[in-house]
Amino acid sequence: MNKLYAAGLLLAMNGAHAATQTIDCGRLLDVKNGTWRERVSIVVEDGKIKSVGPLISGAEHVDLSNYSCLPGLIDMHVHLTHETKPRADALHEALAGNPADMAYNSVAYAERTLMAGFTTVRDLGASDTVNISLKRAIAAGKVPGPRIFTAGTMIATMGGHGDSTNDLSHRFSHAVGNPGPNEGVISGPDEARQAVRARYKEGADLVKVTATGGVLSQAASGQNSQYTEDELRAVVATARDYGFRVAAHAHGTEGIKRALRAGVDSIEHGTMMDDEAIALFKKNGAWYVPTISAGRYVADKAKVDGYYSPLVRPKAAAIGPQIQGTFGRAYKAGVKIAFGTDAGVFPHGENAKEFAYMVEAGMPALEAIRSATLSAATLLNQEGRLGSVEPGYMADIVAVSGDPLSDIATLQTMKFVMKEGVVYKKP
Ligand SMILES: [Zn+2]
Repeated sequence: MNKLYAAGLLLAMNGAHAATQTIDCGRLLDVKNGTWRERVSIVVEDGKIKSVGPLISGAEHVDLSNYSCLPGLIDMHVHLTHETKPRADALHEALAGNPADMAYNSVAYAERTLMAGFTTVRDLGASDTVNISLKRAIAAGKVPGPRIFTAGTMIATMGGHGDSTNDLSHRFSHAVGNPGPNEGVISGPDEARQAVRARYKEGADLVKVTATGGVLSQAASGQNSQYTEDELRAVVATARDYGFRVAAHAHGTEGIKRALRAGVDSIEHGTMMDDEAIALFKKNGAWYVPTISAGRYVADKAKVDGYYSPLVRPKAAAIGPQIQGTFGRAYKAGVKIAFGTDAGVFPHGENAKEFAYMVEAGMPALEAIRSATLSAATLLNQEGRLGSVEPGYMADIVAVSGDPLSDIATLQTMKFVMKEGVVYKKP
């Protein structure tokens, strides 16, 4: 642990931000106007941005005069409690791992995510509410990591994507029984309502449903519709009562449309969206969170013998390669995009590769950066607090060498990370 990092952690642990700090940036991206502001000094006080003005150097300032500063990045789809591993290891982890093992692992994953410049994430599902405990530990400054908005336990239907008892032998499944709404598995609108209330009780910030099959679950289909529309409507209506937004995992066309008609706020993956689905996105103002990184990663690993189970492998090979193309079509059609990767499906800390995939598919670099700042903040209902460097916003600031607008890959080498006024990484 280097000294600076230790000092940052100590500050965070004491719950105190250095009272006033000044950061001198070679340039700062104004994400709202889409322009660089050359040579600026940012004054940070009590974890918030106090002012942004022309550069006035000072001996005690943080000197980033050779760097490009941006708002802290936001990833709308991560799973901080898990990370991909070959099937045999994953199976062993599922059988022998305790929630405490998951919790310790998640500390390392959270730190890697923060050091990669992601100062805020949405965690879209974990078992044993480890993601809620992690959120609390980070918010209290006990461990370093991004600010977390968490779905707690994701809500699946019986046998669906996210039912952890899928494919268990009868010996085990008879012993543990069928999980119910409290454990995030439902059948019917009444249980759907109960499952949302259970998320409120466990301390989640939002709700995640798995509207269709998924790639990595031990089940035959990666795209079948797994919720009826009335179940989805029950989820959304109940979520509204508790101030929750709803994120829906969906690959198949019909499941995407049911979720959109039911009024979810975001579709995750959205692999097989057709023109009618695109029209529904636009009509409802719903967000698309693409996760191209996860698609590309599982497509690559499907080529490796034994990495995935025989049930998962063909799904990964069929669905994975499609997501980047879907993203390109959705963007050109004017669907609102919020940056999200599904980190955990691939190694944590590699989140910024998504930017390059977005640009490769036709999105300008500035729009890709906006999707991970302003747009993500809007979907989080955090406008005016996160996603920009201007007075009154949280002091979440990152910096890279070079110009990410002309070379988006620079975002993969983060040089400086400040979250809420605490410096975690410095050149
Ligand atoms: Zn996911």
